[in-house]
Amino acid sequence: MGGLVSTLLIRNGRIIDPASGMDSVGDLLVVNGRIARLGGIAGVEVAEETIDATGKIVAPGFIDMHVHLREPGLEHAETIESGSRAAVAGGFSSICCMPNTTPVNDSPMVTRYIIERARQAAACNVFPIGAITKGSEGEEIAPIGSMKAAGVVAVSDDGRPVMNARVARRAMEFARSFDLPLIQHCEDLNLSAGGDMHEGPTSTRLGLRGIPSASEDVMVARDILLAELTGVRYHVAHLSTKNAVAMVAFAKSRGLPVTAEATPHHFAITDAELERYDSNYKMKPPLRSPGDVEAVIEGIVSGVIDAIATDHAPHTGSQKMQEFERCPFGITGLETAIGLSLEALVHSGKIPVQRMVALFTTGPDGILRLGRGRLAEGGDADITIFDLDHEWIFRTENSCSRSKNSPFDGHRFRGGPYVTIVAGRVVWRRE
Ligand SMILES: [Zn+2]
Ligand SMILES: [Zn+2]
Repeated sequence: MGGLVSTLLIRNGRIIDPASGMDSVGDLLVVNGRIARLGGIAGVEVAEETIDATGKIVAPGFIDMHVHLREPGLEHAETIESGSRAAVAGGFSSICCMPNTTPVNDSPMVTRYIIERARQAAACNVFPIGAITKGSEGEEIAPIGSMKAAGVVAVSDDGRPVMNARVARRAMEFARSFDLPLIQHCEDLNLSAGGDMHEGPTSTRLGLRGIPSASEDVMVARDILLAELTGVRYHVAHLSTKNAVAMVAFAKSRGLPVTAEATPHHFAITDAELERYDSNYKMKPPLRSPGDVEAVIEGIVSGVIDAIATDHAPHTGSQKMQEFERCPFGITGLETAIGLSLEALVHSGKIPVQRMVALFTTGPDGILRLGRGRLAEGGDADITIFDLDHEWIFRTENSCSRSKNSPFDGHRFRGGPYVTIVAGRVVWRRE
């Protein structure tokens, strides 16, 4: 009783910390859940647990700011426990869960339930996002202030947009007064109605109904104007179009507190994949044209896009086995995020690996102000260790998620997560 000291020594890794600019090979010592020493070479000291990180990258714990955990209410598809296990297997130490559960997280009661369940069962830190409107129905503003007091880190009606501009404006005023970012799922429902994939030559050829880029663009444009009017910290979820990139760049050039995230699937693959008629390529926003993908990558390179987020959206097999038009939108993403980002951004030479680390750490933390995403002596030991060249194949049958709806089943990756540490505890390691 008392006096117990737990120590973990990570040896000889390439430590990358975008917040401080650190990028050097050295050791990292964790004592009682906190970083006791960062960098340099440890002497002969013996820790209870030692990880040889030679040839690996040691980074701040990755943050996924856009995840669907399905609990409460849809536990057959995912739970806080299973989703968080998929998160740590994907290299994430913190995740933010969207409010479109059953019931919707539109009250402090549901927020507290999620936080309590996470405390009992989650493998990583879980930060709830509250709804913008009651039931995410887009009409009546949810009790944003009391949800903030209960622990939400942002508000969003993700899965749906706030269609009514007057409601959106009022919600932005509330979010601003409580100093919370408002995250919008940008989709004009009138323009996207009935669509199953990106509208373009491929949808015409396949005879599938299209979702035009304009459905995203008009809402990003409207919201940037409303963000300027209200002063809210405004964030575009899963940005996927060329014009949306240009408009976020415009907003930033005006000094507005506007930010954006991109998902790995939106920068790694295009709407050409729909040729397979596989519903695991069906999501919202849809996979876009090669020109859009190029623009999203340019937005990542230039800094217009602040964060990578997975939009991990589990659906059970039976839901995804229906005919294409009837299938729900969304794919899982936690376990393939690092592999896809390395493939599409780093190995392709678009960005250096330090920038990729920033997109998973300081990027989302700057938007949500979680006080995470950096390595510092005395700070929480949330750490992601990954590598650049380990070859592996993702198999949905081995996924920690309860759902298997990934288009990347059987995909061969180069580089991926190695060890995930939360508060000094190894919560996952590669077999
Ligand atoms: Zn969404
Ligand atoms: Zn989502």
